[in-house]
Amino acid sequence: MLEIKNLHVKLEEEDKQILKGVDLTVEAGKVHAIMGPNGSGKSTLSYVLSGRDGYEVTDGSATLEGVDLMEMEAEERAAAGLFLAFQYPVEIPGVGNMTFLRTAVNAQRKARGQEEMSSTEFLKLIREKAKDLKIDADMLKRPVNVGFSGGEKKRNEILQMAMLEPKMCILDETDSGLDVDAMKLVSEGVNALREAGRGFLVITHYQRLLDHIKPDVVHIMSDGRIIKTGGPELALEVEKNGYADLKAENA
Ligand code: ADP
Ligand code: MG
Ligand code: MG
Repeated sequence: MLEIKNLHVKLEEEDKQILKGVDLTVEAGKVHAIMGPNGSGKSTLSYVLSGRDGYEVTDGSATLEGVDLMEMEAEERAAAGLFLAFQYPVEIPGVGNMTFLRTAVNAQRKARGQEEMSSTEFLKLIREKAKDLKIDADMLKRPVNVGFSGGEKKRNEILQMAMLEPKMCILDETDSGLDVDAMKLVSEGVNALREAGRGFLVITHYQRLLDHIKPDVVHIMSDGRIIKTGGPELALEVEKNGYADLKAENA
């Protein structure tokens, strides 16, 4: 599904190398987690995959279903089935949540060569999904994320993910101070969307999120590289011993 090979990334503005050879393959149907100390490059990896400006790929590659992501605009990546959920969801004043989602869904369908969804069809779908996520009609009409509580933003993020039916979901939940309720929402959202054709990359600083989302594979990132890969037990090991031992093994 997602294949990252020897990815090297530096800042565009500065001569600072951040990713120093990331190798990572996420298979369809699997949930991979990335953990690692602050500043190791986890968020940079998700930004680069999403097509955010300001980074330069100096070596290596990243493909989604064999298609080169780095050659695509951010919107094209989304249309190809990549979904990025960010720590601080953007507020879009003046644009109703439902309108925003309908535009996003139809843009994606168009890019995939599918017909636009009729408003009846769209309404039926969004009501179904919103109900599952306990999102009320009022929240669907309000401007995107404006004045939403932290929990409402999280729920909305999961709704976006559910509506867009992505092939590959990347969630960066690092340092966002997720409280227990928000963590439950995110993990239930991910677990509900787990299916054979879909891959997940869950980036987190905290082991406890992985108590709820049981990852298939755990990677540890440090100083711009994946330094260790293992099963869910690796997250427990990190919780117990911290990153120091793992870093020493790789020094
Ligand atoms: P993580 O998400 O693992 O905490 P980041 O990807 O946010 O790590 O950051 C990795 C490193 O790159 C850090 O040293 C950070 O300071 C640096 N960095 C990332 N983006 C920028 C930027 N735009 N300008 C300067 N330094 C940056
Ligand atoms: Mg950080
Ligand atoms: Mg981060």
